[in-house]
Amino acid sequence: MDTSHPVSGRTTTGRFAPSPSGRMHLGNIYSALMTWLSVRSQGGTLVLRIEDLDPRCASPELARQIIDDLRWLGLDWDEGPVYQRDRLDLYRAALERLEGLGLVYPCFCSRAELHAASAPHASDGTPVYAGTCRDLAPEQVAERARKRPAALRLRVPDEADPAGTVAFTDRVFGPRREVLARECGDFLVRRSDGVFAYQLAVVVDDAAMGVTEVVRGRDLLGSVARQIYLQRLLGFAEPAYAHVPMLVAPDGRRLSKRERDCDLGELQRVFGSPERLLGRLAFFAGMCEDDRPRSAAQLADLFSWETVRRHRADIVIDEPFFA
Ligand code: GLU
Repeated sequence: MDTSHPVSGRTTTGRFAPSPSGRMHLGNIYSALMTWLSVRSQGGTLVLRIEDLDPRCASPELARQIIDDLRWLGLDWDEGPVYQRDRLDLYRAALERLEGLGLVYPCFCSRAELHAASAPHASDGTPVYAGTCRDLAPEQVAERARKRPAALRLRVPDEADPAGTVAFTDRVFGPRREVLARECGDFLVRRSDGVFAYQLAVVVDDAAMGVTEVVRGRDLLGSVARQIYLQRLLGFAEPAYAHVPMLVAPDGRRLSKRERDCDLGELQRVFGSPERLLGRLAFFAGMCEDDRPRSAAQLADLFSWETVRRHRADIVIDEPFFA
């Protein structure tokens, strides 16, 4: 089987990138399963990276729990776990390169200012940055810095500049074209509490780990343009992207970590074995005609991106799922 990346000729490398902010739940079990199936069906390599940069919501116990959960599900990996907290030097070096390009500036806007009612909002509901701190004079920076710590933002090209339009083809959601100035505006690369931003860390890690395909939930589709923009500035290769459908409750609400029924502890109690859980999940996701128990390895034989594309609507998880 040819396992090389279509663009770079490199072997397929994927990653699990859980944030240890809660136990695994149905939504991220589905994303992890699809990541695993894609890589394993191509004979590729998987890296486990724990995204624990945010000290407010990352706990070592939860990281251990997620590792146990992945093992229980039969979703194995080849390298890691790698912890983002051990890699701060890499993010710092990337930030310095962006600073060297003259594209980073301090931002003193408060949360309330950013979320002002008048601010236009991007498709994912986050406010588009208005550019308030973009062109502060050095004395203004010095004065504001005395009052509050600055976040750091990366300048994106103006709307009319073609360099600010990012086009890519998602394996599931197809061709996309996004204008950074309209979608997000200048975005954070470091928060005001000193924590490196998700976008920067992900891009640095994906490149350092030789990741050739990124598979994750559709909620992150809106991040791709920012990540590709960063890859271009930093001279990194662009991985292939595949965003998988979201799992929703019958009323259309996204299933989240708050839904107790969907946390893996509860799912283990209801289903008893990983095969019963994965078989049911694969059936609800349109991967197979029946919900017979199936291991991840058995599902790899049935997996194709073509099927996922045909079933890319939200996956409704209702009572029969648990029956
Ligand atoms: N850590 C992120 C999450 O758990 C995923 C990041 C990614 O896949 O790029 O939602």
